[in-house]
Amino acid sequence: MGAIDDFMKMLDRIPIWKRLGEVPSEVYDLKRRVADLEEKLGGKWPAEVCRYCGERAVRLMDHRGPDAHGIITELWTCGACQQTDRRPVKPR
Ligand SMILES: [Zn+2]
Repeated sequence: MGAIDDFMKMLDRIPIWKRLGEVPSEVYDLKRRVADLEEKLGGKWPAEVCRYCGERAVRLMDHRGPDAHGIITELWTCGACQQTDRRPVKPR
């Protein structure tokens, strides 16, 4: 067993080998965090961040158009501060 122990000690001196030993716990932590985020979203498309209050609560409420130039105007409203934002969009 001495040769194996010596080999394992030698591997521990290689930085990438030590780093590989840390990967499984990091992957587990990331999986848990992704599951938490998915649960928070509850199957919904994530809301956008409000430019006024900073909350992630802006959702598309309505749209108008397209106008003569093909522009659609979207109405976005923040569920936290109720600010609205009209955004012209040119469909592809
Ligand atoms: Zn807001």
